[in-house]
Amino acid sequence: MKKVTENFGKMVFDDRVMKATLSAKVYASVKKTIDEGAELDLAVANAVATAMKDWAVANGATHYTHWFQPLTGITAEKHDSFISPSPDGGVIMEFSGKELIKGEPDASSFPSGGLRATFEARGYTAWDPTSYAFIKGTTLCIPTAFCSYGGEALDKKTPLLRSMEALNKQAIRILRLFGNKDVKYVRTSVGPEQEYFLVDKEMYDKRPDLIYTGRTLFGSKPPKGQEMDDHYFGVIKPRVAAFMEELNDELWKLGILAKTEHNEVAPAQHELAPIYATTNIATDHNQLTMEIMQKVASRHGLVCLLHEKPFAGVNGSGKHNNWSMTTDTGVNLLTPGETPYENAQFLLLLCAVIKAVDDYQDLLRISVATAGNDHRLGANEAPPAVVSMFLGDELSAILEAIETDTPYLAAKKTKMKLGVDVLPKFTRDTTDRNRTSPFAFTGNKFEFRALGSSNSIACVNIMLNAAVAESLKIYADRLEGAEDFSTALHEMIKKTIKDHKRIIFNGNGYDDSWIEEATKKRGLLNYRTTADCMPHLLDKKNVDMLTAHHIYTKAELQARMEIMLENYCKTIIIEATTMVDMVKKDILPAVSGYVYDLAKTAKTKLEVDSSITCGYEKSTIKKLSELTDRISVEVETLEDIVVKIADYDDICEEAYAIRDNLLSQMSILRLACDEAETMCSKKYWPYPSYGDLLFGVR
Ligand code: ADP
Ligand code: MG
Repeated sequence: MKKVTENFGKMVFDDRVMKATLSAKVYASVKKTIDEGAELDLAVANAVATAMKDWAVANGATHYTHWFQPLTGITAEKHDSFISPSPDGGVIMEFSGKELIKGEPDASSFPSGGLRATFEARGYTAWDPTSYAFIKGTTLCIPTAFCSYGGEALDKKTPLLRSMEALNKQAIRILRLFGNKDVKYVRTSVGPEQEYFLVDKEMYDKRPDLIYTGRTLFGSKPPKGQEMDDHYFGVIKPRVAAFMEELNDELWKLGILAKTEHNEVAPAQHELAPIYATTNIATDHNQLTMEIMQKVASRHGLVCLLHEKPFAGVNGSGKHNNWSMTTDTGVNLLTPGETPYENAQFLLLLCAVIKAVDDYQDLLRISVATAGNDHRLGANEAPPAVVSMFLGDELSAILEAIETDTPYLAAKKTKMKLGVDVLPKFTRDTTDRNRTSPFAFTGNKFEFRALGSSNSIACVNIMLNAAVAESLKIYADRLEGAEDFSTALHEMIKKTIKDHKRIIFNGNGYDDSWIEEATKKRGLLNYRTTADCMPHLLDKKNVDMLTAHHIYTKAELQARMEIMLENYCKTIIIEATTMVDMVKKDILPAVSGYVYDLAKTAKTKLEVDSSITCGYEKSTIKKLSELTDRISVEVETLEDIVVKIADYDDICEEAYAIRDNLLSQMSILRLACDEAETMCSKKYWPYPSYGDLLFGVR
């Protein structure tokens, strides 16, 4: 293998390249823009554009694109070449500062939820200098934000950057209160762990459900699933190892810090964890990672499934969003400090997160809501749809001691008054291996585990940043005006614990009794499906908070709610129509064909010897014929429901109808077909089985 250190970031126009290719003055100016958001003048942009183009061309690029993340959830790009005619009949390679800063793609084919009137089809993309440009294939990709001409965000990056700014503003206020004058900015850092499945391409090609919907809509249980737990951290098979090696190579060239890879719980399931980065860069990198996983897989005759639940009865794939707040001076603010004063600051920040998660459970649930993820949340493998927090025993005990003004035993019976008396020095909690909590404190960061594997991590981090910014704002408002800082601080932490301790749960989140306790005793929200939670995006408290921090406008929120619900409806309708297609074109004819052959066999047997009973043939013919009759009735019912759903005008009503009528009918149809699969000869069954798919890669 090539030397990793030589190749790392080779295809990225990063700080090293900028330093080497820009004049000192231009470099300083760009750096100021990156670090402090200072405006960039055109002369500087021109200089950067030229350097970027020269570097890109030297590295084999012929085209450039403004790379952005529209509300489809994936990335978009439109390639323009650098070519410009020269007077002598040849061409020169050109790229201006204007082209770097702003692009004008036709926005009309991207979802806008009504934000972009049809007469204003244009949108514009604006360079995000905080995320480095990179080369993919022969194209220089420039990370950009995507807005309508009216300035409304049509993408996920814009609100993400706004949320980071909101959090930065409030966190700085808090740090100043604790006497910190040096920190210039606070950024949120994220390390997203990515799960995925690898299946054989030849088998994938035989499954219309995987091709059209990304998940299997039919499939009976294989004789062996994940019950032996022999896949998790098991030896990686040679074909998968070759895939991972090439994937790492590609990611490293793009400056993506892919660090850990291992087999996951389900057969054919794997995970990749990167080293954390600033939120917007981590988001860009995660989008790229998912794209490159799929590309590299196809080079190995594999298909990478990023769907949340590709197989029923087998664990689905999620994404763990490890989140913290870090200063420009390199301090992780969620590390419990060494001294009491640091501890008090840590406890306040911890409380800010507790309050945020409790006050905005709904926004966190909404931020992971998709049709695919609805199959996972609460299915005894992923965290439940109820949002709660795990803090571990030590932190929980400390909070309890503060709340009740009782001594914290480990601290030699010192009564704690924050910032005044000596606080216990607390060590990194080692009981952080609760895997069932949706939102766990893991020593120096929080891990939000409810994301689906195909989710962009942007939405989760927008909501998290926003909600924490809101807590911090409330704290800062109160503390800045306080007569006695220490007393006010102590009272506020106490109040937060009292008001919000219901969100803290250190037990088993997969337990049914927890859901009962959470909803009935603690009054926590339990939005089971996307249809249940999404309309609450527009609840007054959510709109008020998100608009107050300038993260979304009301119109942007309305648009997003509609797009997300439309997405939910479309996804499930495509699944339903795919089922109809598979049943009518493949499954029914296949089973009928098998029955016909059985009947022919029986007839021939009887001709040979009329005393043969043909028990096997007869009973199978009978059972399968009953099943095909049932299947043909159920498939008609499914078709009728799909037709009726097309009549709804209101997107919420449509989503409710899908949740209540369509999904259950899909299950009924599937059940009958899966039963037929168990009885049908493998030779006749039109699709590779679960066993083939899950154990087919060697
Ligand atoms: P594990 O959970 O297996 O012990 P780690 O704690 O080392 O593993 O990290 C898991 C993920 O959390 C990695 O992607 C890592 O980069 C990320 N991570 C670690 N520290 C931080 C941090 N301060 N902010 C955000 N993510 C972090
Ligand atoms: Mg994890």
